Amino acid sequence: MKLVFATHNQNKLKEVQALMPASIELLSLDDICCYEEIPETADTIDENAILKADFVKNNYNMDCFADDTGLEVTVLNGAPGVYSARYAGGDKNNENNINKLLKELDGVKDRSAQFKTVIALNLNDHQFMFLGVCKGTITTERRGSEGFGYDAVFQPEGYEKTFAEMTLEEKSKISHRGIALQDLIEYLSK
Ligand code: IMP
Repeated sequence: MKLVFATHNQNKLKEVQALMPASIELLSLDDICCYEEIPETADTIDENAILKADFVKNNYNMDCFADDTGLEVTVLNGAPGVYSARYAGGDKNNENNINKLLKELDGVKDRSAQFKTVIALNLNDHQFMFLGVCKGTITTERRGSEGFGYDAVFQPEGYEKTFAEMTLEEKSKISHRGIALQDLIEYLSK
């Protein structure tokens, strides 16, 4: 089975490739010669995942899935949420996003947060949604050099390490994307 994963993000691709069974041939956007940035203009994580998956279906007519992820911080009323990529500005700079987050939470006691991933799958003209949530806390400083995005300041519940201090395998077992993806894979293998 051939399935397109609608992302240009090499880190996401690596995470997903590591979990996909050999029976599914995963194609990236580059593999189908889609080099443009797919618009993520919706106001919810669910709708953005659907936008990306539908873009591939409508323009390339291939079975595909897309994920959209947001970091929801309790004391910030769920921000940055759907705007996580552009939290510190339109250039989607991870370092600036983390700096802004740490500044917002400077001196704040309740540092609870969660990552939420929604995967939209377009398969045989039907659409399916998968959800993955990972609860944790925002650390007071960066720790670790693995991963991407907000990984260096997110410590999942029950663990002493941030995502950036974990291997890809460790992160994927408990992460928002890993959980949503495991559901997707279970569904595909039925
Ligand atoms: P999107 O799903 O690519 O729109 O991601 C939104 C924002 O969340 C971007 O700033 C990503 O870098 C960040 N992000 C997405 N997934 C993860 C993750 O697994 N760990 C840390 N940050 C992430």
